[in-house]
Amino acid sequence: MSECIVCGGTDAFTPLYAGLVRCPRCGFVKADMSLSDDEARAIYAHNYFFDGEYADYLAEQRALEKSFRGQLRTLRRFAPSGALFDIGCAYGFFLNLARQCYDPVAGVDICEEAVEHCRAAFGLDVRCGEFLDLPLEPGAWSTFTCWMTIEHLTQPGEYVRKVAELLPPGGHFALVTGDIEALNPRLAGPRWRLIHPPTHLSYFSKRSLTRLLRRHGLEVVYCRYVGTWRRVDLALHGLLARKHHKLYELLSKNPWREWMFYFNSYDNLYVVARKTG
Ligand SMILES: [Zn+2]
Repeated sequence: MSECIVCGGTDAFTPLYAGLVRCPRCGFVKADMSLSDDEARAIYAHNYFFDGEYADYLAEQRALEKSFRGQLRTLRRFAPSGALFDIGCAYGFFLNLARQCYDPVAGVDICEEAVEHCRAAFGLDVRCGEFLDLPLEPGAWSTFTCWMTIEHLTQPGEYVRKVAELLPPGGHFALVTGDIEALNPRLAGPRWRLIHPPTHLSYFSKRSLTRLLRRHGLEVVYCRYVGTWRRVDLALHGLLARKHHKLYELLSKNPWREWMFYFNSYDNLYVVARKTG
């Protein structure tokens, strides 16, 4: 019998929606599937960042940086400086901004092409592979970040355990992930836009995330809904490109296609946790 990563319960998870199951004790929701490391690696090849979950990740750079700048400002209220390690750093946009305040900065990502970009475009110290396999020195990194990544992991509980073990007392772990218990997903039910296994495997809430962090000695010090900046044409791509291609082509030729807008659907949690003891 496998244990719930959040509450440690061994009761069988019960069906929530097609493909999703929920822990009857703590409400933690996960995809009802298991993914091997090789399968996970295959998902996060080039297609994931281009025409997959993102229309064109590199074209979103300015919008992503604007979002990351906001997240950085919040993080600095709790951890103004020190050594920062980013888990799932993608193309390095966050690390490249973070190094203005933190020293050193480093990161890891499973996607080889993204890691190459981090090195070539920004000269960042980024490794390609699994965070769980990295030999990192305990106490060397005072802040870990994990932006919209924990929901993708095959072993999120082990990631939190490792972060907690590596952090010095008073160190911080900041993350952003969806909240399946927020109003919007409650209304949308199985049609909530963030439900898409196999890329999203874990579906946290304020409750379950707080409990998972506390289980590993991390106390939540900040928890708010956060929005993201999007480019108009790339947002349209997500809405129209597949079903209404001609309309999308027409609209995306307009001069306002590169405008950006801030969108907060109040279902993405930004959590900062501090290591106690
Ligand atoms: Zn549970």
